Amino acid sequence: MSKKNYNYLAITILAVLTLAWLHFADEKGPSDVDSGYRMVMGTFARIVAVAADRQTGQESVDAAFTQLVLVDELMSDYKPDSQLSIVNRQAYEKAIKVDASVFEVLKKSVEYSKLTGGAFDITVGPLVDLYHDAAEANTVPTEKQIEQARAKVGYDKLILDANESTVRFLVAGMRLDLGGIAKGYAIDKAAEAMIEAGALGGMVDVGGDIRCFGNAAGGKESWLIGLQDPNVEPDEFGSEEPIIVLKLNDNAIATSGDYRRFVLIGEKKFSHIIDTQTASGSDRLTSVTIIAPQAIDADALATSVSVLGTAKGLSLIESIADTEAILIRQKEGETIKTTGADKYLSQK
Ligand code: AMP
Ligand code: MG
Repeated sequence: MSKKNYNYLAITILAVLTLAWLHFADEKGPSDVDSGYRMVMGTFARIVAVAADRQTGQESVDAAFTQLVLVDELMSDYKPDSQLSIVNRQAYEKAIKVDASVFEVLKKSVEYSKLTGGAFDITVGPLVDLYHDAAEANTVPTEKQIEQARAKVGYDKLILDANESTVRFLVAGMRLDLGGIAKGYAIDKAAEAMIEAGALGGMVDVGGDIRCFGNAAGGKESWLIGLQDPNVEPDEFGSEEPIIVLKLNDNAIATSGDYRRFVLIGEKKFSHIIDTQTASGSDRLTSVTIIAPQAIDADALATSVSVLGTAKGLSLIESIADTEAILIRQKEGETIKTTGADKYLSQK
């Protein structure tokens, strides 16, 4: 593992332990199967299955992990043999054919770029790298370096051919980064696999992004998901009181934020989410939680709203059916919600 990958991993682990510390009620019914936390996709994942019998529950959990591993093998940007890595190395020289699943994620990413006016942009890779390198060297990037990276960023430079299922770059040195959407996609695939395996209900948690469906664990009415208070330093078990508890049934939830996941250059924090307009870490919002039917949408929208900020972000989410946002601004300690978000709030 290179030094850079190691850093990436360290940041990710920190994020899981802090930023997106979500949990659900721990009571389990007789046939509920809980995987506990396992390392996958560079983060911690936990699957809970509710099934008519333990064997079906266990098979559902296994089917879900199989999907998470498959998606990681295709879309990881630090596995040199993943399709994403091959695209990143070769797509400027020639069009690269990719699996239908990879193509689907790339297509969805571009749709979100268009919907958000470029706030969400998977071509952000060169800027992500620049800030990683700057953090390692502990010097802010120069104007020239920023301009050079910027020239390799922009979804208009990404050519997707749906007939051929190919990807091509218009500019040398481009790099796709699916960190803002692949987890969501993997969660959806895992949940689908659980339903196929016979689960009556389930919860898939990958690094704090979650999808739950069907019967809740412990025979409860809903799955209970706690949102961590960004202003409270968590202990190592994440056992501090959540700021908000959400009651979910068939929903996905994703949280993005910069409050503990950032790179430090000198004294200044740079968020891992980059605003391609300013070519710098986005610092508008502390924590953005999106509730949506599918995890891929919740994931992409949480990243998008982190860049868009409160006003534009809220109006975007208000315009999307069955989708809600809960924003927390750290300095002001203020929680802002879309109009339909209250129906998911549970009394603690
Ligand atoms: P998330 O935690 O889902 O908000 O994803 C954050 C990750 O998405 C970052 O660590 C980068 O890998 C990637 N990323 C950073 N900036 C953007 C952006 N503007 N659009 C899409 N992905 C981004
Ligand atoms: Mg995201």
